[in-house]
Amino acid sequence: MTAKPLLNDCFLHDKDRLKHAEALAILKDRLAPVALSQTIPLGEALGRILAQDITAPRNIPLADNSAVDGYAFRFADHDEAGGFFRLRQRVAAGHASNEMLAPWGAARIFTGAVMPPGADTVAMQEDCETHRQDGEDFVIVPQGLKKGANCRKAGEDVAEGTKILTSGHRLKPQDLAAIASTGLAKITVYRKLKVALVSTGDELRRPGDLITIGDVYDSNHYLLKSLTAGLPVEIEDLGILKDDAGLVERTLAEASKTFDIILTTGGASRGEEDHMQTALEKLGQRHMWQLAIKPGRPMMFGQIGNCVFLGLPGNPVAAMVCFLLYGRPVLSVLGGGGFVEPQRFQAPADFEVPKKKPDRREFYRGILGIDENGKTIARKFDRDGSGLITGLREADGLIEIPEDATSVKRGELVTFLPFSGMGVV
Ligand code: AMP
Ligand code: MG
Repeated sequence: MTAKPLLNDCFLHDKDRLKHAEALAILKDRLAPVALSQTIPLGEALGRILAQDITAPRNIPLADNSAVDGYAFRFADHDEAGGFFRLRQRVAAGHASNEMLAPWGAARIFTGAVMPPGADTVAMQEDCETHRQDGEDFVIVPQGLKKGANCRKAGEDVAEGTKILTSGHRLKPQDLAAIASTGLAKITVYRKLKVALVSTGDELRRPGDLITIGDVYDSNHYLLKSLTAGLPVEIEDLGILKDDAGLVERTLAEASKTFDIILTTGGASRGEEDHMQTALEKLGQRHMWQLAIKPGRPMMFGQIGNCVFLGLPGNPVAAMVCFLLYGRPVLSVLGGGGFVEPQRFQAPADFEVPKKKPDRREFYRGILGIDENGKTIARKFDRDGSGLITGLREADGLIEIPEDATSVKRGELVTFLPFSGMGVV
């Protein structure tokens, strides 16, 4: 498989204060997978994105088999035999018998063992009585069973020829189990995306380093590395860039040659010490900047050659919100997984916002609670600062307030985007 064109150069979108939905529409429309495919052992495929469809080459299970330990018999014989069967066979899992079950005969059978030809129903061993008479073994099977009871039919999980997974699907543990059940040992998935992670700011230090007044530890590096941990990406840490236009430009130019995407935080605003946008304009194209959202307005998106550039704001709250809203779907599309929408549900607001600016979408750190009637309610982390990691830590997700809202009243239904539905684990 060859890489599709990454982005169409002519979609320069310089409208200031692009609305959230417009930004998403552009990303949805214009991004295409860049990752090539590779074939890997099934055991290494967790979290990877399928680059092939998976079809069952045969019935799963392959043959009718017993769901319990018990006695298999022919349902039609039951009443005539008075439930009294002569034990004729013994079938254990992995040892199929091809001997036809004689009339009024039963087979001792164990869970997963193939039903002997002729048998169609199984009675659980707990419900049966066995006894020996004149050197022969008999089993008494109770009444009231339905035809086919305790028998798993061939193909009842998946019928031969059924497509069980489609290219573009991100593999969960259950999917690996399903693929294993088809017998495939190797599968074709998209290659992992190569992601460069860059922090910028003269004030930043890494944990372990000494700090003095004015310095700040680089939280975003740990935040983003962890937010991408479950995604099919190879993260390379390019460290902390000083606020130096030349250095920023040289580093981005170099990184764009080898990475699929450069993910930066900080330096994205219009300040004189913010060099991301000038570097991006010099080296490539800026497709988006300045969104009508809060937090995260300075989010920047563009490309340098074939490398996607995503410039997240430096404030940790804005960095996380923008990564979840835009970065995660961008990585998913580039990596072959299509555009992933966050999960959303509605919950009554257990807070009030008397005045909200119209024309921008706001995302609050949301905390779920239970009211006195046992109903889920959404509370807002009470402080708004975009630098407060405490709010991110306490939150269960984001509360999304649309552009046209000018206030939020207590009890009003608000949209909640749980972190768990955006891959935060
Ligand atoms: P900037 O986008 O560079 O103007 O940064 C906005 C705010 O975020 C400033 O207070 C920075 O110190 C802070 N900041 C930027 N990068 C990071 C980072 N990697 N970790 C923690 N805070 C940061
Ligand atoms: Mg800065």
